[in-house]
Amino acid sequence: MEFTADELWSRVLEATRDRLQGQAYRTWLASTTAVGVTDSEILIEVPSQFHVEWIGDRYGPLLTEVIQQILGRPLTLTLRCADPAAAAPIPAIEVTPQTPGASQPAMAAAPGGPGPALNQRYAFERFVVGNNNQLASAACHAVAAKPALTYNPLFLYGGVGLGKTHLMHAIGNAVLEADPTMRVAYVPTEQFTNDLVTAIQQGTTAEFRRRYRQMDLLLVDDIQFLKGKERTQEEFFHTFNALYDARKQIVLTSDRPPKEIPGLEERLISRFEWGLVADIKAPDFETRVAILRKKADDDGLMVSHDVMDFIAQFCTSSVRELEGAIIKLLAYSSITNQEISVELARKALHGSFGSSLGPTGSVVGAEHIRRAVATRWQVREEALSSKRRTRDLTVPRQVAMYLIRDILDYSLVHIGHLFGDRDHSTVIHSIRKVEDAMSADAEFRQTVEGVRAEIGRGP
Ligand code: ADP
Ligand code: MG
Repeated sequence: MEFTADELWSRVLEATRDRLQGQAYRTWLASTTAVGVTDSEILIEVPSQFHVEWIGDRYGPLLTEVIQQILGRPLTLTLRCADPAAAAPIPAIEVTPQTPGASQPAMAAAPGGPGPALNQRYAFERFVVGNNNQLASAACHAVAAKPALTYNPLFLYGGVGLGKTHLMHAIGNAVLEADPTMRVAYVPTEQFTNDLVTAIQQGTTAEFRRRYRQMDLLLVDDIQFLKGKERTQEEFFHTFNALYDARKQIVLTSDRPPKEIPGLEERLISRFEWGLVADIKAPDFETRVAILRKKADDDGLMVSHDVMDFIAQFCTSSVRELEGAIIKLLAYSSITNQEISVELARKALHGSFGSSLGPTGSVVGAEHIRRAVATRWQVREEALSSKRRTRDLTVPRQVAMYLIRDILDYSLVHIGHLFGDRDHSTVIHSIRKVEDAMSADAEFRQTVEGVRAEIGRGP
């Protein structure tokens, strides 16, 4: 170990201090102390359990990123309350190093549900409404105001990092705020499956059913993971019916609409469509800027509007990506001890997040992506736009469409034009094909990610 816990932590604090408003730093970080460090973990004591949650949730990703930059490798940051009497029955929170921006939900006291507790930060007040999520957000407000009386079930779908989980927690938080006696459970689908498997093993399926069916509001996240799990689907079907018949609210999320979840039973598909199915799309530029500004305000970060506009211009695919960019930029600025500017952002962000920047900060265009794909599949670039539909051409053509959409966020119509005036529905179909193949075939996914990485290195 090259540093003592104290040395490491004071460096981390020093690097973080400049980047936070004085108030935020003094309130949350000034009173922390390092108590130990191992090869894989640093243990920090903070004054209260509230500090544990607040710091873990708001500053955890930034702190772990800074630690990684200082040490050149990741460490798990564990926060613990210094006064054991003040520590609630909640254990210390671990912030595991993760992909930038992936948020670490704070576990507040569970309202007695089977799943993890609601993340208090995922509230309606912190959710920015834009063209991309207007319907979904309005539906969530309606459901929160009158559970089981408006849309039941409410089914939200959309790509990764677009705010589905956030909205789902927001419903739960709002419902509990209005009536703390409501029984609310949030459960990721994988956990529902795991619970069921455990219940079957231990012969406690009756208890399992009772636990889920006594809820007033059941929030089930990422329901696409039911695919191919017959027994879980069967069980979920009965849970759904029991709740629905008892006029209890059900909210579901998925990465795609019910009909398109492969291997999902017909009877579940039809039930999922009984209420409202609402989609969330990637945010447009203005919404991305609004989200960044709100984040900076809420978290007391000092980042100028210029810099936020710059980030919004280049992080186009999801809100999570935007959050990751801010964290990365703050860490980079702390480590290199440079003021945050557009210039610094350009340096800090190039090459990351499937970014659309080349090494010199030059913008990577569709041409560059097409060339990289054509080279990888060894076809001529012009052939990607031809009408020929042999397999040796359709695969790279679909991949190029997918990457252009993903990296540059071009409209489907625009992408269609780039590939020999193809129809936008063909483009959607192509992109879906690639997404499906990437989730079904690890080798294919690696190939595509390899090309993406190459593109990230610039023209
Ligand atoms: P999903 O469940 O769709 O993958 P999440 O709900 O986990 O996405 O959102 C990813 C991150 O982006 C979270 O930190 C969330 O708070 C944030 N986020 C997403 N959409 C918005 C929004 N419209 N306004 C503010 N923050 C958002
Ligand atoms: Mg989610």
